[in-house]
Amino acid sequence: MENVINNNRSPDSLLSLVIPAFCEGSHIRSSIQVIEQILIENKISYEFVIVDDGSKDNTWEELQILAGENHKVTAIRLSRNFGKESALCAGLDHAKGDMIIVMDADLQHPPELIPQMVKAWRDEGYDLVEGIKNSRGKEKRLYHLCAKIFYKFLYKTADINLEQASDYKLMDRKVVEAWKGMPERTTFFRGMTAWVGFERKQICFDVAKRVNGSTKWSAYRLLRLAVNAITSFTSVPLHCITILGIIMFIGTIVLGAQTLYMKISGKALDGFTTVILLQLLIGSSIMVSLGIIGIYLTKIYQEVKGRPRYLISNRIQDGEKK
Ligand code: UDP
Ligand code: MG
Repeated sequence: MENVINNNRSPDSLLSLVIPAFCEGSHIRSSIQVIEQILIENKISYEFVIVDDGSKDNTWEELQILAGENHKVTAIRLSRNFGKESALCAGLDHAKGDMIIVMDADLQHPPELIPQMVKAWRDEGYDLVEGIKNSRGKEKRLYHLCAKIFYKFLYKTADINLEQASDYKLMDRKVVEAWKGMPERTTFFRGMTAWVGFERKQICFDVAKRVNGSTKWSAYRLLRLAVNAITSFTSVPLHCITILGIIMFIGTIVLGAQTLYMKISGKALDGFTTVILLQLLIGSSIMVSLGIIGIYLTKIYQEVKGRPRYLISNRIQDGEKK
């Protein structure tokens, strides 16, 4: 891993822009032009890695033209629509830059911030520069509420605060390598970049309006992403079963005592005591056993994810920064 890490941060360090595109044919070329203009004005050396995530429109044709006339553009086409997360993985795998910016194809991530991000990486030594949403742009109320609950839950259970996080980020090469070193199959980019740590700086931006087309996130896709994120970052739902089992067991003791008391004092109906006691006992023991299985499952799930135990941010050896 070490030989690919380049710690030289110089004015001609290469910037890779990784852009996933799904049905963005109508404006992908003009978007790239806008971004490229800013890069040229600021004398940043760059390459584009644009991933067509199985679009059904003319995105790929547009990308072919673009890559044909501009050799700084690498176009990748996935065999079908794998979703933004997978498209990002493909893009990051093919990016060669010393720093990498991930952004959307619809200019909702203002490219004017790029020079500022690059400066924070080059001159201030940050490894990760994150775009933070000042406002979340226009959203439906229900959507806003769901997003709020989701972020709160993730923050409380996994200690990851993503409320204003966006997928607009600059990452140092070593952050990308660390991210690639996570072998899990289902990824949640925002969560994983929060998990890896490193020196980070946050830059606020207002979410711009989409240049063209419409959002690709249906309610179902968002729900799937949310479940993905929660199950990848927290095992709290599994522990809930154990807690429920314990609560039920306490209930069993209380209710059991009451039932027995009724029986002894002769107030109980014939046969009911046995039924109640059996119900309580079976119910609570099933819950507790499920909970125990849950705890083991949590362990297996953590092992299966196979995340590295730690990540190194800097190393000095023989008086040299590695
Ligand atoms: N995208 C993708 N695959 C998908 C859905 C979206 O690559 O299945 C890309 C899309 O082309 C865009 C980015 O992900 O560059 C963000 O998508 P969108 O603008 O639809 O989401 P929003 O900005 O509304 O969250
Ligand atoms: Mg968008």
